[in-house]
Amino acid sequence: MERIAQQIKAGRKILLASHMDPDGDSVGSLLALGLALESGCKKITLFNESTIPAVYRFLPGVERITSGPIDDSAKFDLAILLDCSSLERAGSAALDIRQIPFMINIDHHATNTRFGDENLVVPEACASSEIVYTLIKHMNIPMTREIATSIYTGILSDTGSFRFSNTNENAFSICREMVSCGVDPSFVAQHVYGPFSLDRLKLLNHALDSLEISGNGKLSLMTLSRNVFKKTNTRPEDTDGFLNYARNIKDIKVAALIQEQESPIPEQSNGTRNGSGPGCERPFHVSLRSNGWVDVGAIALSFGGGGHSSAAGFTITSNLKEIKSILFKLSENL
Ligand code: 5GP
Ligand code: MN
Repeated sequence: MERIAQQIKAGRKILLASHMDPDGDSVGSLLALGLALESGCKKITLFNESTIPAVYRFLPGVERITSGPIDDSAKFDLAILLDCSSLERAGSAALDIRQIPFMINIDHHATNTRFGDENLVVPEACASSEIVYTLIKHMNIPMTREIATSIYTGILSDTGSFRFSNTNENAFSICREMVSCGVDPSFVAQHVYGPFSLDRLKLLNHALDSLEISGNGKLSLMTLSRNVFKKTNTRPEDTDGFLNYARNIKDIKVAALIQEQESPIPEQSNGTRNGSGPGCERPFHVSLRSNGWVDVGAIALSFGGGGHSSAAGFTITSNLKEIKSILFKLSENL
């Protein structure tokens, strides 16, 4: 920790980035450390390749996060990666980030590849925001309400409101301290778990409608095509929390949500794609959740993805029939 604090103190122009398709911890840890370092007069740039989900846009400083290309990586002398189990999780900017002379990797995923020049990887931490809190304290940076709001939100969302197995004592003690720094829990909850838009409710309806259960009753599976997102005017980030329905079904050990990604094959005006027959391969993201007994992080890793033992994911280029068949085959060993 001290070595990393020294590296940060020596940095002059710092790029902070967190994983694409961000969740609350990705946005929270990025903003918390960014605002903290800025209060120490560092020149910082905050980067996330994806659009920040609407539910996290209330966080102080969120407008500072840029998604544009990193125009000149040569101008940075330090990169800090947050909540990324591998550098590729930063998205296509990974190539530019690699050019920055020194890289610090701060993360809590057990599958982290230790890609940094310095690695602060703490799998026991409930969230990357917990590690950022410890670092801020170590560096004696004053805690403000703005920083505290991001740390609180990161921990709240990554622990599923203190329900998931990563919920540890620190989750409570840090959040208690963040409240004493001025965080309003009901204000945060109103945003993070706020009312569903009608469009999002319709998307949930599609997801629930698509539920399939494996023959042995241990795997549940939901599917969302691009077409459904288009029809309901929603985005992949709107599926946040949907998998809890599939996981909470009695006797289910693993729940999966298969989402069709933006396809590199251009759409035709009638909404179909050239070669979109059953044999046509397209990119899909598969999110996995476990009931706590199965290590879905290991499953995701075997498909080139990663994550935690109870929440993980991977991207696969294939067709829907094939992906379902792979998952159902896998369910036989659960
Ligand atoms: P989600 O299913 O909500 O996208 O992600 C659940 C967890 O798995 C998160 O911690 C996320 O960072 C991780 N994860 C999801 N997809 C991938 C992936 O394609 N690669 C890796 N390495 N991690 C992933
Ligand atoms: Mn996280």
